This record gives sequence, C-alpha cells and structure tokens, in this order.
Amino acid sequence: MTMVRNMILALAAALPLAACGGGSDAGGSAWMRETAYYYSASEVDASNVADLGVAWEFDGMVVRGRTNRGLEATPVVVDGVMYTTGPWSVVYALDAKTGKQLWTYDPETDGQFARRTCCDAVNRGVAVDDGVVYVATLDGYLAGVDAKTGKELWKTDTITDRTRSYAITGAPRVAGRNVVIGNGGGEMGVRGYASAFDKKTGKLAWRFYIVPGDPAAGPDEHPEVTEARKTWDPKSRWDLGGGGTAWDSIVYDPDTNIVYVGTGNGSPHPIWLRSPAGGDNLYLSSILALDADSGRKKWHYQTTPSDSWDYTATQNMIFADMEIGGKPRKVIMQAPKNGFFYVLDRVTGELLSAEKYTTVTWADRVDLKTGRPVISAQSDFSKETKLVWPSEAGGHNWPPMAYNAKTGLVYIPVLEAPMTFTLNAEQAYRPYSVVQGSSTGLAAFGDPNDPAMAKLLKGQPKPKFEQVLKAWDPVTGKIVWTSKVMPFWSGGVMTTSSGLVIQGSADGFLTVYDGKDGKVLRRINIGTGIMAAPMAYEIDGTQYIAVPAGFGGAFNSYYLPGWAAKTRENNPRLIVFKLGGEPVRLAGPRPKLPLMVAPAKYRGSPAQVARGAALYGANCGRCHGDHTESGSYPNLWKMAPETHDAFENIVLGGAFSYAGMASFKDVLSPADARDLHAFLADPVAPPAPQEEAAAAERRSLH
Ligand code: CA
Repeated sequence: MTMVRNMILALAAALPLAACGGGSDAGGSAWMRETAYYYSASEVDASNVADLGVAWEFDGMVVRGRTNRGLEATPVVVDGVMYTTGPWSVVYALDAKTGKQLWTYDPETDGQFARRTCCDAVNRGVAVDDGVVYVATLDGYLAGVDAKTGKELWKTDTITDRTRSYAITGAPRVAGRNVVIGNGGGEMGVRGYASAFDKKTGKLAWRFYIVPGDPAAGPDEHPEVTEARKTWDPKSRWDLGGGGTAWDSIVYDPDTNIVYVGTGNGSPHPIWLRSPAGGDNLYLSSILALDADSGRKKWHYQTTPSDSWDYTATQNMIFADMEIGGKPRKVIMQAPKNGFFYVLDRVTGELLSAEKYTTVTWADRVDLKTGRPVISAQSDFSKETKLVWPSEAGGHNWPPMAYNAKTGLVYIPVLEAPMTFTLNAEQAYRPYSVVQGSSTGLAAFGDPNDPAMAKLLKGQPKPKFEQVLKAWDPVTGKIVWTSKVMPFWSGGVMTTSSGLVIQGSADGFLTVYDGKDGKVLRRINIGTGIMAAPMAYEIDGTQYIAVPAGFGGAFNSYYLPGWAAKTRENNPRLIVFKLGGEPVRLAGPRPKLPLMVAPAKYRGSPAQVARGAALYGANCGRCHGDHTESGSYPNLWKMAPETHDAFENIVLGGAFSYAGMASFKDVLSPADARDLHAFLADPVAPPAPQEEAAAAERRSLH
C-alpha cells in the first residue's frame, strides 16, 4: 500500500465529521435558515442567473499560524448586518451591502483544543436573537455578544469535565427563552449532553444527558437517563464516555415550544466493546424532542439502535407541512449518516416514512410498524472485518440539505462510499486521542486484487468514493434526479422560490441547478473549495447570495487530486453575489516549499528512527500527513532549522499551541520527542512515515 492510501484510511477512521449549521431565523425574513435553507423571495432565476457576479468579498478572517481551517458557517443576516464565524470561533459582523467590517468578536479560543477535535478548529455559525449574537467556542464556552457593538455580554462554561475531549464546533440555537448548545468528542471518549442557558443571563436552565454515566459516579441526573440505562449493559465501558454527542443539528419549533436535538454515535463505536450484552443504547443516533423550557423529553426516535458504524443523527433537520398518506402533517425530516431518509410527525414523533437515499447495506429496510431497522448480517463486524455502506462519513454529513416547498423536493448532498470495519481487540482510554474501538478504511482505496480485500468485496456493490446532489421526494420516498459526480466532501445546499438549487463543491465550483430536473444553469469557478451552505438576503431591493468558501474540516490533513485546496491557496473567503456583479477573483496557486535537510545533530540511530516512526503514526500523522504535499497542516519534512531547534519546546512545551499545535507532554516523554525528531531528521530512509507506523496508528487509535 502506498502512504497516501494509508493516510486516507487512517483519516477516514477519524471521520466523526462533526459540524453544524447555525443561526436564527430572523422574524419575517425570506430566508428560512434553520428549517429549510430556502429563500422565499428570489429575483435570481433561470433567466438571469448568468448575470450573477460578485458584489463584495471578505477575506480578513483570523488564521492562526499557517493552517487554513475552512468555513463551515452559513451566515445570518439581520437588519442589514451579516453575522458569521470563521475558524477558531471568531465572530464577524459585516455590512451586508458592502462587506465593510463592523466589528470582530474573538473569544481567544484555547489552541490546545484543536487536539480535542476529530475534524479541525472550525465553527458552524451563530444564532442572532433580540439584539444578541450567540456563539459557542471550540474550547467549550457559550457567549452572548451585543449585536451592535460586538461587546461580550456574558460568557459561560458549557463543559462538565475539562479533563475530557469536549469541544464545540456547532452553532447554538435560540429556543424560547433559552439558547441551546451541545458539543463534540464522540470519537474521543466523552459522554454527550445538550445544555440550555437563559438567553439573557447565560445561566444554566437545564442539561439533558444523552447517554447514562458511570453508575459508580452518582445517581442519574434526570428521569430520561434512568430510562436510557435500561438499554445499556450494566457492564458498559463507562470509562469511554458512551458518546451520543449533539454536535450539530438543533432546531426549535415556536408553535410547540419543542427543541429538536440530533444525537451522535456511541463511544466507543462498536457495541460489542461499548455495551457487550447489546441493547439499543438510548439515546445514541436519535432525534430528541425536548420541551424548550424544562428540557424534559416529549418523544424520541432512534435511527440506529445499537450503532456500531458512527451513524450519527446530527445531520440537519428540516420542518415542513405536507400531506402524507392523504393526511396533512407537520413533519420533521432528516437524512442522517445511516443512509435512510426519515419523515416523522414532529408533534407526536410518529414515523411516517424511512427510505434509502443512498446505497445502504447495514440494514435491509426500516419496519414502519415497529419503527425499527431490519439490521443485516453484513453489518456485523464483531467476528471478522466487513464491508459496509455507508462509510463513517455517512450517506450525508453536516453540509446541510435544503427543502423547497414549491418543487416539493429535498436536495441532499449525498456521499457514496463503503468502508471496511474491523473490531479492535481492546480499546484503552487515552487522553485527547481517538479511542473509537474500530479500525476502518475507505474501500475505494483498497487494492481489489489483494486476496483479503477481494473476499470483502465479494457479492457487495462496487466501492465508490463520490459525492452527488440528489433531489428527493419526501412523500414518495424516491430519488427524482441525481447530479453529475463531484469530488467527495462537497458543500451544503440552498434553494429558492424561483426553483434554483445552489451548491458549492470541493473543486472550487459553485453550481446552480434547476431544482425541477437537475439541469445545470451556471457553474462559477471560485478556485476555493466550498463546504458550507450558501444563503440569500435582500437589502434595498437587491438580492444577495452569500457563499462561504474555504476548505478544511475532516479532510484538512490530506487533500486529494481534484480538490481546489490541493493546488490553490485556501484562505477562507466569504463571497457575496448579486445580479450585475463583478467577475470572481480566483484563488492563487498554492505555494510550493522545498523539502529541507534537517541539522545533523538531530539524527538518531536506526532504532530511534524506527521508534520515532511508530510514534509519528500514533500521534502526529492524523494531522500532519506525510512528506509529500499533503493537507493544510505544516509539512514536518520542510521545517526550517530554527523550527528544528525549537522542536522539543513545540512538541512538549506547547510553544505553537495558539496555532493549534497542542503540547503532547501528557503522552510523550522527552525521549519520545527525541526519537520522533530523529525520524523526521533521518536523511537515509525515505522521509516518510513507515508502513508499520500507519498500521500501528490504525491498530491503536482507530
Ligand atoms: Ca462520529
């Protein structure tokens, strides 16, 4: 296997792929941000989309060190001001007509927390309500900021245990008198929960624990925990947290005062390690309907009972009124990672339909009578490695889908990829590290001629590693059209009353489709990879379409051919279009730095180099990749002599922690750092991590 493939497999293993959309719908706004990604007053349509050009661009976001980390936030526009976030949870207020920067709120997030995330120091946006902008920070705080001045009104700690890898990349949501936020860390040994804080004072209103805690640590915090505990083995791996993190989707319905929270995968991933006696393991991979004032559960629906495949149900949830089976229903819709598209009555929680929107092999179907999936034998990797669709990245991840009431269709950014899943024999807890309990690989990168892989592929659909946009009829449960293939990990979607569907992609293109039939109406090359969903707004009779561009997140360590970030600079940019605007400025070429020869004094013995290679695989490769031009993180084979001189101070002393390079002194000794350095300084062996290192990483970490 090549190193590239190893890195991809290793990265894929770490794909909890967190993220979240964020922002409140302003009252009366034509933009339905949280509930549909739909713009109801569009003057831009098929007849004039060719005239779309740039109104303004903002590229002044905070970048720490040299690492670009991608934009995942869809902006919120209220009263002519655009509020959005960039990497490191920094909030920007911009004049939405001109792009002029009005203020910046930098919460000075602790850079050490980059190590506590699966998927980069990104942020999925703000909520805005009644003159206050709410943002949650990577290091776990929730802040209320004055919308006019950017002045912090209050800031509160949302984390219950700072010795664990909690971090926040998601957007808070205002729900009645509270603001609600969850957190991430489901790959790293945490216990998930959602918290609500009084939106005026920041005082804790309620906290809903999504999974039970270690019974030895104290009584259950609320009745739902006791109810959930019945579905867990009493001898569950409480030391690994249980998971269930609510890292993205939170939606509020003011009519019923219900806040809906999507919950994540188990920790560790495989139920055979997590809860050996089995059980549904509530409330993993579920939609929770909670009373917004009390936090008490109204109903729940678990999409993936006994989840072992990282099938989070944190993907965005859409509200709609529609007729199902001849009856008008207020529905909530979700396309979670597990590949089924769910339509539920959002008042009662009744399951109305669940059909496959992508290739799914972990379950045959969902039984509408019981509401439960019919799980397949193919999904069971407790005794041997199995090939399962979808991958840990899911059939759909955080880039939002959109719903258009006029076409009646949901537009889903769909990932098509299977994965090999292998159960780890054991999984110890290790601080600030991936402890997911399984080893996984994207099957499309496996060698089909390898006998072991050939055996896994036998009788299974041919592996893919692709992304498409699918138009989905939620009433019939059928695909209406599918776009051409675009690179994996492309962006979220918005749609308009004029029938347009707009989506960016990793290759740096913004594509405008006819929502009825999928015809491509316009392709705009931005030259910067796009992940977030665009949004639209109007000022003084002019419609604007805002497109956050900047690649990063889960795939920031290894860029693939075809991705804009592979060949072009990847500065985060917010590009706003209008009819009659200017041409787009393409991002420039990515600068190429030469490999550097390390100072001779840092070389070590062959034994040190070998040991250093294994340490690199276990601790560093997840971000830094190999010696080839890999992703956004610094290439350690290109360190300047003075960086070599500071090596121990960086790795153990945390000298670059502000930029996201945390101290590793809790897991590495000075001797470890020296051997690591010897590996990186070794001029004899090819300057790349050894095969064993990547294998060790897969065994020990994923
Ligand atoms: Ca996950």
